[in-house]
Formats: sequence, structure tokens, C-alpha cells
Amino acid sequence: MVKRQTKFVFVTGGVLSGVGKGITAASIGRILKARGLSVNIQKCDPYLNVDAGTLNPAEHGECFVTYDGAETDLDLGHYERFMDIQLSQKSSFMSGRVLQRVIADERAGKYLGKTVQFIPHVTSAIQEEIKATADGYDVHIVEIGGTVGDYEGLSFIEAIRELSMSVGRENCAFVHVVYLPYLGASKEIKTKPAQNAVRELRGLGIVPDVLVARSEMSANGDIVDKLSLFSGVEKNAIVLLPNAKTIYEVPLTLEAKGIDDVLANRLGLKQAKSDLKEWQKVVKLATKQNKQKVRVGIVAKYLNNQDTYISVFEALQTASWHNHVDIELVWIDAEKLTSEKKVSNALSKLDGIVVPGGFGPRGTEGKILSAQYALEHKIPYLGLCLGLQVAVIAAARNFGLKGANSKELNPKAGDLVISTMDGQVGKENTGGTMRLGNYDCALSKGSLAHSLYREDVVQERHRHRYECNNDYRDQYEAWGILASGLSPDKHLVEMIEAIDHPFFLASQFHPEYNSRPNRPHPMFAGFIQSLTRA
Ligand code: GLN
Repeated sequence: MVKRQTKFVFVTGGVLSGVGKGITAASIGRILKARGLSVNIQKCDPYLNVDAGTLNPAEHGECFVTYDGAETDLDLGHYERFMDIQLSQKSSFMSGRVLQRVIADERAGKYLGKTVQFIPHVTSAIQEEIKATADGYDVHIVEIGGTVGDYEGLSFIEAIRELSMSVGRENCAFVHVVYLPYLGASKEIKTKPAQNAVRELRGLGIVPDVLVARSEMSANGDIVDKLSLFSGVEKNAIVLLPNAKTIYEVPLTLEAKGIDDVLANRLGLKQAKSDLKEWQKVVKLATKQNKQKVRVGIVAKYLNNQDTYISVFEALQTASWHNHVDIELVWIDAEKLTSEKKVSNALSKLDGIVVPGGFGPRGTEGKILSAQYALEHKIPYLGLCLGLQVAVIAAARNFGLKGANSKELNPKAGDLVISTMDGQVGKENTGGTMRLGNYDCALSKGSLAHSLYREDVVQERHRHRYECNNDYRDQYEAWGILASGLSPDKHLVEMIEAIDHPFFLASQFHPEYNSRPNRPHPMFAGFIQSLTRA
């Protein structure tokens, strides 16, 4: 059998970073999938890091975790949500991983006395990573992080240029995402930076097939003529993307502009009509004004970058659309919650409270106080990973164990109700000791967790080191909580809930990674639903 040739779509960015390359790549994935094609997607980041596990979430945004435990860039979250797929270790790589491999090969004598160089050795290694991930799919989308022209990204741009030579230019499409600034003084949108960005890309040997022009204001059609003239990209292959009401509109806009057809023609894909019905429903729900509104407080450590908790944000939004309520998110600085009075001032007007994941002691006393408040005042509570750990501490403290804490937060505390498991002791700060990726969780019948999932065993993604200390498990009932989700060997607590409470649920895993705009996650859906009952 002749092996099918995978077609490649490369997405690059110009002018500045953060203009929506990830959303564009994810949207292209959705519209091509909607044509019945099998589509894979991958993010290449030119950082020298080996993976995203150690990047500061306040600067780089959330660390997204795949089912097989890769710690990746948050764009993978967009890909999973837009394309409704599960990505893997192979779906993201950074320069560090490629360089590590090249240098290891050099040490192992693989290059047989040759000089090891960026071109061709590093660029070949990058191509191998891409081809290995593309194999078996109709289309493989590759997003190159950063901005074209960045010093550190050059080997990636060169690698995709070389790849287009080796697989044939007819099997590759290049999509360049640029930004059109608006000049308030003259009230006009300027195209010069975009023109220069295309020239920069051409200078590196790549002629774009599609130009996606992001802007804050809507631009008129003349802009397309101008961009086409200066960039050499045909008018029908240029899309203007002014800020949308929701990012979920982007696939519909790209399809309405015929970008799926442009790509299909470029790549010699068969003609087909996209089926975006389900997606249209998502956009309709997302943009609908609802009568009821719920106020949800997120008690967190990082407040100035919404990307830090992007999957939690998306999961809450999705759950509210599907429950037909508007949601107002109130970001609460956990570090400021230093007394019961401050906690009550911050939380008493909320319909529900979320405590998301986190590492290190900063702000955790405020999170524990918030969980205590939610328990006492019967306010719906959703705890995610660290949010479970602080909930267990809160229940223990409310019961009277005033010294309850987690080993991570205060190793000298009297009652370490959250601690490390036997095999981890002494390795707390070393790499490779986190529980990452999918693990099974068995749900107890009759529990809130079971009633939401309606399944006996579920799989969810983890990213943590500490666990509920089994020495205290026989006290949970007295503390008013139930371990409603356990590892199948019953050794690890995966979920807890409060026994006498309208909705108090927490998980040691991160359910937010499995929420999809078309399919809200049961824990989030249940949480939002509990707020609408008030
Ligand atoms: N810091 C906690 C742990 O390592 C929780 C981690 C998280 O919330 N992702 O166990």
C-alpha cells in the first residue's frame, strides 16, 4: 500500500507575539477536521527550556498537562478545546529538547567526525520531531512560537522551509499571522508593520499562502487590497480578524472567508463542505445574554495574567453557557485574606468559590480560610488540586485540629494531613517526583462525584507531588468530609466532598484540562448548576 502523504500547515507570526497565533492554528484545525479530515497539531517553542514544567505561570501562563503527562505550553489547551482531541508528549517541543538530543548524539559518536551545526543538524532534528508527530494523519498543523525574525526562532523557520523542500511545496501551506495597529490620532489602521513582517518571512525563504491579520478595530476591505499588493498574498487568502466577542468565533470567521477552501486547494485536498453545526451551537451559547448571572470568586495567587488559569477560566465559562447563566468571575488575591473578617468581606457576596491549583506556601493561609468559610457558610466550593489539599486542611481545622497543614506549606506543622507518600520522602524538590498525567479514579456510589460523572471509574490528569495522608483517613467522617474518589487500589485520595453541604467538591487532579466548549466537564457543570439553585 502506498503511504498517504501527510499535508502540512505551518503557522508563524509576525509584528508581535500574543496576537492569537495559537487560536488561529486551533481554528484551522477545527475547520479542517470539520471537513472530515484527520488532523494533528503541534507546537514548537524556540525557548531553550526542555519543557514548560518550570516556566513561571505568571509570565508564561498556565502549564497545560497532556493525558500522558507532558507539561506543555497553554496553546495545547486551545488546540484540545477547539479540536476536541487529546494531545500527547509529542505535541509540543522546545529547543532544549532538540538540542539535548543533538548534543547527546554528538557524544555518542553518531555524527562520525563531522562538525555539528545548526544547519543541517539541529534543523534536521526539528524536522524529525515534526515528521514523527505528523505520521498517519491527513493534515498536520505546526505552530512556531515567537515572532519571525527572533534570533532564537531562526532554526525553526529554516527547519520548516527545508521540510517543505523535502516533502514537496505542494504538500505544505504557510499561514502567517500578523497584527495591524490602530493609530488613534489619524483614526486609521496601519499595514506597514504587517508588510515588513511578510518581507521578513520571505527573506528567510518562505512565501506565505495565507495571511491572517489581527486588529483591535474592524478594518475595511481596502486594507485587504493594500495587504495583497504589498505582500503578494492573494486577496481571497487574506483574512481580517478584528477582536471577536469570543475567540470561539474564529473558526466560523475563517470558514466564512473560505480559508478552508484556500488551504484545501493549496494542499490538493478533496473538496468537501465543513460541518460546523456543533461549533455554531457553541458560539450561539457563548454569545447569548442570559437572564440569570452567577458570581464566582477565584481565590488565587497570580492575578495580573488571566492566562495563568486559562483552562479553569474556560471550563467555568463553558459550564455557565451550558447552564444558560452569565458568569462574573471575581479574582481574589489569596495573600490579602489574612483574617476571618477580610475573608468574609471578600467572599460573602459570592455565589460560589473556586480554589485552583498552585505551588508553594504564598497565599495558602488565605485559601485555607476561604475553604473554611465555604464549609461553615455552606457556599458552593470547587477545589482543584491544591484546592483539594486546602479543603482537607480546612475541614480538619474546623473540626479542631488547629495545627493541620500540608508538608509543602509547613513541614513542621502538628498534623500533616497532606504529605508525601513513602517513596517520595527526601525527594520533594527534585525533578521526576510529580504525579503527572492520567490516573484512574474510582467513585463511590451515592456520592456527589458519582452523581455528576455517572461513571464508576474516570480518568483525569494530575500534576502534583503531595497527597492526602492516609493516617488521617479514618477521621474524615468526623471532619464532615468523604473521600468519594480513590485510586483503584484505594491507596490515594482523588476526590473529597463535604457530607452536609449543598456543593463542596474537590479533586486531586485537574478536571479543567478535560473540559471542552461543546462538552462541559461534569464537575464544573455541577458546580455552576448548584449556583443557579439559590
Ligand atoms: N502544590 C501541590 C502539590 O504539589 C498542589 C499542586 C497543584 O495544585 N497542581 O501537591
